Amino acid sequence: MNEIKTPKKPIIFYYVIALLVLMLINFWLIPYMLQTQVKEVDYGMFMSMIEEKDIGRVEIQDNKILFTDKEDSKVYKTGVMNDPELTMRLYRSGAKFASQIIEPTSPFLSFLLTWILPLLIFFGIGQYMTKRMMKNVGGGNSMMFNMGKSNAKVYVKSSNGIRFSDVAGEDEAKENLTEIVEYLHNPGKYKEIGASMPKGILLVGPPGTGKTMLAKAVAGEANVPFFSMSGSEFVEMFVGMGASKVRDLFKQAKEKAPCIVFIDEIDAIGKKRDGQFGGNDEREQTLNQLLTEMDGFEGNNGVIILAATNRPESLDPALLRPGRFDRRVPVELPDLKGREEILKVHAKKIKLGQDVDFTKIARMASGASGAELANIVNEAALHAVRDGKGYATQADLEESIEVVIAGYQKKNAILTDKEKLIVSYHEIGHALVAAKQTHSAPVQKITIVPRTSGALGYTMQVEEGNHYLMTKEEIENKIATFTGGRAAEEIVFGSVTTGASNDIEQATKLARAMITRYGMSDDFDMVAMETVSNQYLGGDTSLACSAQVQAKIDEQVIALVKSQHEKAIQILTDNRSKLDELANFLYERETITGEEFMEILER
Ligand code: ADP
Repeated sequence: MNEIKTPKKPIIFYYVIALLVLMLINFWLIPYMLQTQVKEVDYGMFMSMIEEKDIGRVEIQDNKILFTDKEDSKVYKTGVMNDPELTMRLYRSGAKFASQIIEPTSPFLSFLLTWILPLLIFFGIGQYMTKRMMKNVGGGNSMMFNMGKSNAKVYVKSSNGIRFSDVAGEDEAKENLTEIVEYLHNPGKYKEIGASMPKGILLVGPPGTGKTMLAKAVAGEANVPFFSMSGSEFVEMFVGMGASKVRDLFKQAKEKAPCIVFIDEIDAIGKKRDGQFGGNDEREQTLNQLLTEMDGFEGNNGVIILAATNRPESLDPALLRPGRFDRRVPVELPDLKGREEILKVHAKKIKLGQDVDFTKIARMASGASGAELANIVNEAALHAVRDGKGYATQADLEESIEVVIAGYQKKNAILTDKEKLIVSYHEIGHALVAAKQTHSAPVQKITIVPRTSGALGYTMQVEEGNHYLMTKEEIENKIATFTGGRAAEEIVFGSVTTGASNDIEQATKLARAMITRYGMSDDFDMVAMETVSNQYLGGDTSLACSAQVQAKIDEQVIALVKSQHEKAIQILTDNRSKLDELANFLYERETITGEEFMEILER
């Protein structure tokens, strides 16, 4: 899609044009209009006109002769010759001798033309320019003119617009939106039955899952204009400006219907109105205006509003009621197949080697969003360029996953030998505990190359397929795996380090969720002690229980993690020789693949 922008000319351009026009009027047009038209002819012609008695009036001046024809319709001019007989001949031809053939213009008319006309023209140009400026400042020339205009980005239909085929995965969302495309193509079919399209559709999902892309794809498929604006752009410094922007946006959209209006991050204006003292008046007015506008147009007028948010729970209920955003399309993180497809879509843009295995990459990048996958592919291409290769290989892609997950390799982070050994044992501890518990996913790769994210090493686990449910045992095993690193340090070195802080956080989070949200503790049965308040943005939770229960929850969390920690210690003690062997291998090589790991383990 192409964005339309009005080309902006500097203001001086308009002033120069105005000045030129004025000069033209004053020095050419007005004298021209005031002057009677005089035609210059040669003396011969004058003489022949006398012969033919075709002269009306004549005036002989010192250096020229002015005369008219018989009908007095034209004035001629010619030079003076030494012609003593002239007066007689003229007399005989019946010409009248006049004293002033060209009459001076009336002073009133000349005043009108030289003073009033330019003023009027100047005023007209001024008016025109002000209008233009008001129109143009949508692009942001001047702060004062700019307020209250929607300055939405407008994209027109074009052959290279985004299509559904560019959005990989997300089949459910696409299916849902296909209906809209169908409607925009053929509204008559729907009107006939009396069905009306939803006015608004809310795309909800985590960041980077392709919500904006989907909205653009709807416009691209339906071949209609696409207005795009972010929720935060509506909110201005002055109360009422946002509302006027909303009005302007809808006015523009109705003129261009059928079209798609896309409001990104709608939670910026659509947050629940709480009516507290000192609330955000400007935001509330903007929201009210949006509600009014959405009520104001008919469902079948061809304007479809798509909005995106990753905080649907914070939206005002009035916005979500039928007749406004009555349809909600979830745009979730891609599953394994979706990730593979997204990788393939983006891989088309870069040159790839023969050895690339998309399924494997998709497996490794579990939990990555579409935007992250796009980033992974691009990082791989950059990596290939850095290495002076003409194309990206599987190794580049794998490295870029690590870059996206853990940051770049730290080139000059020097670990002491002791530290390196501790990190080796720590990472092998995780992997060994994972591998020894049958339900845990196998290890893909372990490395102890320090990364810019601060990780001194990490174990990359790989899910074989898509997991939608997790059993209690699986979660417990996961907790045990998190504690495996610290357990190995304890067994081998008899002391502990700070390296386990992230593991501790993750293990606690899981244990807590088991007890407060998944109903996996004996005491609380199926009562939710915590609710998730921010599903798509990190999943923050808020407690919903009494202080006594909180204390109990804490106790149980501690007991749960402790028991899994003990289980991990047990597993590692039972496999002490493998632990040493693997840790030393990792210490030597710094990186160990899943196959190498399993090979040593099963030896
Ligand atoms: P959102 O609006 O959900 O935050 P965007 O639509 O802006 O995400 O996506 C950001 C980028 O991520 C896109 O430009 C695209 O390159 C990539 N992307 C995300 N999801 C997909 C997908 N399903 N297929 C292809 N590319 C995707």
